[in-house]
Amino acid sequence: MIEITAEVRAAIDRAAEDMELAGDEYIEPADGLIHCKKCCGSRQTVVPRFGGSGYFMPRCLCPCQQKAQEERKAMEEQRERMERVKRRKAQGLQDRYLYDYTFSNDNGQNPVMEKAHAYVEHWKEAYRDNTGLLLFGDVGTGKSFFAGCIANALLDRDVPVLMTNFPSILNRLTDVFAEDRAAFIASLDDYSLLVIDDLGVERNTEYAMEQVFTVIDSRYRSKKPLIVTTNLKLEEIKKPPDLAHARIYDRILERCAPVLFSGKNFREEGAMATKAAAKEIVRKG
Ligand SMILES: [Zn+2]
Repeated sequence: MIEITAEVRAAIDRAAEDMELAGDEYIEPADGLIHCKKCCGSRQTVVPRFGGSGYFMPRCLCPCQQKAQEERKAMEEQRERMERVKRRKAQGLQDRYLYDYTFSNDNGQNPVMEKAHAYVEHWKEAYRDNTGLLLFGDVGTGKSFFAGCIANALLDRDVPVLMTNFPSILNRLTDVFAEDRAAFIASLDDYSLLVIDDLGVERNTEYAMEQVFTVIDSRYRSKKPLIVTTNLKLEEIKKPPDLAHARIYDRILERCAPVLFSGKNFREEGAMATKAAAKEIVRKG
């Protein structure tokens, strides 16, 4: 704002005569400009007319209006973020049950879950260094839950994640036209994290193996992290039966740190707890 000389002040006072004031505004006697009753800040400023003589007095936001505007913007951004996270979840977690694979639903019985927390905490580094995980071990030891918790936690942080499995991918590939297959496989690499659940359950045909390789190889080349869960033994992965498997597993082993799930069968334990609870209900009844 320019200095208010006698000439400027005269222009301000002339303009003020036809100025409509809002209920929370007043004309400040010191400068003749509109101010805010709440914060006393200026709601009007004075600038010389461009390329001519005279001045004009445009409106401006007082500090409390600016604050309100910033708060509205922050709320709008928060709302947009929540919408985006919701959309990403619907897209990234295709199976409904995956929504329940969250850290808040962890019963704390499996010490290996610490590694899932660590992965999420160090996500930036994992993404930068293209560090994936290979979760292996017996059925029902919590591998999918582990991977699902990471997927949900990262989705909540606005990271694009897809958790899927090869039977779904193969179904999808048979549904689309040949020319769209490459585009579909490439679309998997748009996700910052790809989780392939239950590697090894897909049919062992030449066609299936070829598609699995294409997906894994494409991911490998994208230099983005991959998490794989499998019931296969680490020895089976390290010493595969044939070349078709070897070229898939080699790429996984190169990029994914193996994490062993051993000991307790959590699914069985869960089933036993359910049975025990059912028995209890029956006994009481
Ligand atoms: Zn104000």
